[in-house]
Amino acid sequence: MTKPVQVKPVKAYTVATNDPEESTIQFATTNVAARRQGADAIGADFTWVSCKRAPWADQYAGSFIPAQAYIENGWQIGCTNCSRMVSDEHHALGSDGYETDELLTPVFDGDRVFCDASCKDDHEKEVAARNAKFEDFKKAVAAAQPGLTFKDFTGGYPWCGNRATFTFPGAQYGGSVSEKENSTTLEWYVANGDREAWDAFQAQRAA
Ligand SMILES: [Zn+2]
Repeated sequence: MTKPVQVKPVKAYTVATNDPEESTIQFATTNVAARRQGADAIGADFTWVSCKRAPWADQYAGSFIPAQAYIENGWQIGCTNCSRMVSDEHHALGSDGYETDELLTPVFDGDRVFCDASCKDDHEKEVAARNAKFEDFKKAVAAAQPGLTFKDFTGGYPWCGNRATFTFPGAQYGGSVSEKENSTTLEWYVANGDREAWDAFQAQRAA
């Protein structure tokens, strides 16, 4: 007969340094394990972090902690759009950029928080714009160099720039093309070992 294995429940712990921005919630079966995980996550020495139970977060073991739960439990989190710290005690900014008497009306979205609805709006516009630029990039590279075989495309939100790798007839290593965040200039790169093959390919294409 095998004995049933006693599985220790995973619990939530707050691991912190003296910098409140470095605090982290860790899930572990013991305080010492949580402390070690937290120290690793923060990048601090084990002896420099404190570790205490955070029972409110126990229910989120194995998933993510909603931003709203953090804030209701006295944490502050940066707005996904503007990075401003958001908490139950933060005040809205007036049109002059100074804090008003009004408290923020944060908008929660899973593990993300926005200062208010307009910050969420701005963020969504930015995501849409970056994704649209990525789609334009895909068309532009194909139009600029027909005959290349494009392999991996990297871009769109959350990336700032866009990039693709490619190969072409006669190439051993291939190359890449990229464009920066605020530019639509295509920057082409071909591996040194493929220079000759590239020149031959371009000459043939121009012929
Ligand atoms: Zn914001």
